[in-house]
Amino acid sequence: MQRTLMIVLAAAVIGGAAVGVVWAATGYNLKCLNPKCDYTGKCVLGPTKLMDSVDGYCASCGKWVNLRWKRAGGEAPKPIGKVWAAETGKTLPVYACPNCKGPFLPVTEDDKVKNSKYGAGLKEGEFLLHCPKCGEPSLMAHLEMFLD
Ligand SMILES: [Zn+2]
Ligand SMILES: [Zn+2]
Repeated sequence: MQRTLMIVLAAAVIGGAAVGVVWAATGYNLKCLNPKCDYTGKCVLGPTKLMDSVDGYCASCGKWVNLRWKRAGGEAPKPIGKVWAAETGKTLPVYACPNCKGPFLPVTEDDKVKNSKYGAGLKEGEFLLHCPKCGEPSLMAHLEMFLD
């Protein structure tokens, strides 16, 4: 009886440890730190264990959006076009918003703001993006949950 319980417990611990280690999409609470702006929101960024994703903000809908597809055997969505950003010189793919079918640019690791006057009080796991409402590098993303 004792022995069985130990095995069950061990299995639970190992099983628990395996959850969320790799490919965890992450949910963020968003809050603009610009005192002149009151933007708040939520978004999910990143792929999950089973699903890949393109994540971004649709300016037409005013919402954070995600395209997801099965990592194994799924078909990645095709960009509907490309844009060249003069500011960075990069050519970026544009995807169709799942709601309005209008274009949105994916948000990637590169879009995290590195040097911003709003970065002072950030805690571990928090980072800044540009705010879709005021355009300042002041949108704080605070880790809220891991999705599997
Ligand atoms: Zn849209
Ligand atoms: Zn803002």
